[in-house]
Amino acid sequence: MPALADAHCHLDRHHFAEGPDAVMRRAFDVGVVGFVVVGLAGEGEGADESIAPAREAVGLARRMREHVTACVGLHPHEARLWSPELHERLRVLSGDPDVSAVGEIGLDYHYEHSPREAQRDAFARLVAVAREVRKPIVVHTRSAAADTLDLLEREGARDVGGIIHCFSEDRAFASRALDLGFDLSFSGIVTFKNAVAVQEVAAWAPLDRLLVETDSPYLAPVPLRGKKCEPALVVHTARRVAELRKMPLEDLCAAALANTEARFKRRFSRVLPRPD
Ligand SMILES: [Zn+2]
Ligand SMILES: [Zn+2]
Repeated sequence: MPALADAHCHLDRHHFAEGPDAVMRRAFDVGVVGFVVVGLAGEGEGADESIAPAREAVGLARRMREHVTACVGLHPHEARLWSPELHERLRVLSGDPDVSAVGEIGLDYHYEHSPREAQRDAFARLVAVAREVRKPIVVHTRSAAADTLDLLEREGARDVGGIIHCFSEDRAFASRALDLGFDLSFSGIVTFKNAVAVQEVAAWAPLDRLLVETDSPYLAPVPLRGKKCEPALVVHTARRVAELRKMPLEDLCAAALANTEARFKRRFSRVLPRPD
């Protein structure tokens, strides 16, 4: 298999009880050499407990520096947890050398687990953090296309750029995002039969602006749709994108890997750790 990167995965223990090493091992075995691991603040007694899962992801990046980098943020689902104390911890953690982006942050009006106003507020504040630490932004957006783009524009996200993770919008959105300096990261959704608009964008997007990801443990690609997703499955997503673009899988993988490295300013080692 050609070398490849998973540009967005969640490897927390509450998703994978066996721990990240076993999960990454299976991905190494199919050629995945790089992982962007997402660390999100969550519920907790106080800001220190709340930030703990994000610190966990940074710890993994530090331990596996040759293959892993972290991004840290507050998911729009949890925007209601924002507080000045949590913000300060996220701000400091964002400056850590093993953190290469701020995110995922954004807006999710589909589930609306947090009030929209709280989502917009936390999103804007964390865009400001990304600008302060001069790192790219990993954006989550669902059923909130116009507000997401307007906010990114208004808050000067262009200064740092980033990626639209788990791209699930249309070509008009993609054009505006690309103009704002955001690359498009495709997840298993692009393999779903009914995801015609997303497939169209994957076929059309400039080759130097697209990434692939799993968003593990969610959204397993076809032919494993409905199963638990893990980074090893990013290969299926890459294969589908290559097919849509009528290009060899090797070339697509090489481009997506190079784009991931460029965007997150990391170089992943092609030499894989030996199994224990
Ligand atoms: Zn997301
Ligand atoms: Zn995610």
